[in-house]
Amino acid sequence: MIDTHTHCIHSHDGKQSPRDIIEKAISLNMEYIAITDHFDGELTLLPEFSYIRQIDLENHFSELAALKEEYADRIELGVGIECGYMKEADGIYLEQLSKYDFDLTINSVHTIEYEDCYMKSYFDKRTKFQAYNAYLKAVRESLDCAYHYDSVAHIGYVARKATYPDTKLRYLDHQDLIDDILKTMIAKGKSLEVNTNSKGTGEDFLPPKEILQRYKQLGGSLLTFGSDAHTVDRIGDKYPLVSQYLNSIGFKYVFKYLSHKPIAVKL
Ligand SMILES: [Zn+2]
Ligand SMILES: [Zn+2]
Repeated sequence: MIDTHTHCIHSHDGKQSPRDIIEKAISLNMEYIAITDHFDGELTLLPEFSYIRQIDLENHFSELAALKEEYADRIELGVGIECGYMKEADGIYLEQLSKYDFDLTINSVHTIEYEDCYMKSYFDKRTKFQAYNAYLKAVRESLDCAYHYDSVAHIGYVARKATYPDTKLRYLDHQDLIDDILKTMIAKGKSLEVNTNSKGTGEDFLPPKEILQRYKQLGGSLLTFGSDAHTVDRIGDKYPLVSQYLNSIGFKYVFKYLSHKPIAVKL
């Protein structure tokens, strides 16, 4: 069992210490756990989000690097980061990420057309098609960012806080765009993350099953598993369910990352 996406108190919304995460992962018999706190460089460019505490990268990296060594004989710790993509923030990530030897960089879209899709207001002024289409266009654009990243987080995230009666993201509603995203990821060698923090999306995990099936059909093989836990109780959440499902559609492995290299772990 592995988990490549968790948050500790280094994130503005994290509730658990890095040591608590590691101890919990050991108690679950995990062979690998990554701590991937939010680096929301894009929000520093949007004045309305200036109240959000930004990560102290220096402290984040050095504390995790020390824990990685301390726990080396008990569990593999992935020292990671989750970048919130926005075109204008490319320079920030390019400069800052070059300073640290992270194991894993997750690329995420939380901000669309300069708005945070965690806010109800994003949905108030858009139809479901407009809201989801703009999100997927941002995901497609994020694949061509200037900085290095390893995995693409939670495709379908837009649905988490959506206010429509039916929040499900459906492959057939955005077929060409989703195909373009998946084909580009495969061509670039990026991992598709299966994320179990899916409350509000109408799914057990993201991306929705039809997108995972399409990824398989197109020849995709790189996958990561992420609980996106912000509290200790969600670490590794629904791993057996995801593992069983991925197996049933023909995937044999998920991948953990060390020094930005994918290493296969049998499902
Ligand atoms: Zn995220
Ligand atoms: Zn996250």
